[in-house]
Amino acid sequence: GFKCGIVGLPNVGKSTLFNALTETQAAQAANYPFCTIEPNVGQVSVPDARLDTIASIAKSAKVVPTQLAFVDIAGLVKGASQGEGLGNQFLANIREVDAIVHVLRCFEDDDIQHVSNHVDPIADAEVVETELLLADLESLEKRVPNAQKRATGGDKEAKIMASVLGQALDLLRDGKPARLTQPNDDEEARLFEQAQLLTAKPVLYVCNVNEEDAASGNEYSEKVFAKAKAEGAEAVIVSAAIEADMVGMDMDERLEFLKEMGLEETGLNRIIRAGYDLLNLHTFFTAGPKESRAWTVEKGAKAPQAAGEIHSDFERGFIRAETIAYDDYVSLGGESAAREAGKLRQEGKEYVVKDGDIMLFKFNV
Ligand code: GDP
Repeated sequence: GFKCGIVGLPNVGKSTLFNALTETQAAQAANYPFCTIEPNVGQVSVPDARLDTIASIAKSAKVVPTQLAFVDIAGLVKGASQGEGLGNQFLANIREVDAIVHVLRCFEDDDIQHVSNHVDPIADAEVVETELLLADLESLEKRVPNAQKRATGGDKEAKIMASVLGQALDLLRDGKPARLTQPNDDEEARLFEQAQLLTAKPVLYVCNVNEEDAASGNEYSEKVFAKAKAEGAEAVIVSAAIEADMVGMDMDERLEFLKEMGLEETGLNRIIRAGYDLLNLHTFFTAGPKESRAWTVEKGAKAPQAAGEIHSDFERGFIRAETIAYDDYVSLGGESAAREAGKLRQEGKEYVVKDGDIMLFKFNV
């Protein structure tokens, strides 16, 4: 599955958020007997109103949302990139995640100590980024000359690598994340991805604000949004305090509470959804009287790969996929009606799954 790593300096609200994420989900965890609970990994359901609509049309006994993992990556220390032990561990943990959720303190509170004694989310972000940047820089300072040497010797792949990683190295030397690299073709893109640079991972900045700023943000969050825009990252405003207050409330209480704050949706939902977008994922559904279920695939995935999300046998023995677009399924009122209206398509191996597709796979065992 896909993983988002939560990072940030001490005392910015990481644990408060992570606990709110996981405790809210723990209430639902009874529905997932097979999910193992690790202390620093939270499997969270991706909110999607379409799933409930499908389930009510299909009269499903069970509704199963798709999930995304959040990992609490503690232990950032200044100097991690040159360090051993904790510092290395921190970088190794980040290398394993698909996207970075970077929590920034955008609230003032004299009772809560800030590591550098004043609130400055941009400076805070730079402390973390510098470590990632230095680690990438150190790695490319070796790899690029190496690739160049092999390219001179006639190695074609090395030539492509030298070109794309050289571009990344220039950015890093300029203090910019490798994420801004623009590969010239598919081969460059592939080699760039393979290089697994830390600053190439997509980033979501979470501006943690006080309750009163939750709806419209503040001067700090504005700066973070500008920064995100400049570097190809995303940002959301969240109040960890509000999220923590809502743990244990039922849906109606939450909605009431959010309304009082001028909000329509929980910050957690916005983080989960932003994480999902950041990872370039989308959703297809399976629907029936037994259960309706949402599944995750990368955008661009073809039908057999989607089938493989359900079971590897489905992918191996894939014959075809009976597919209904979400809008057709809803407007016609379900599978049989869609079939009668000629809206159930027979799709083959090359079909690129669309967001919202309702799919039934035919396969050989
Ligand atoms: P971590 O070290 O990043 O995991 O930070 P914590 O989640 O432990 O939070 C540090 C302290 O800040 C705790 O006392 C939290 O209750 C408090 N805190 C977290 N978010 C907010 C917020 O939005 N507003 C205020 N005033 N305090 C917060």
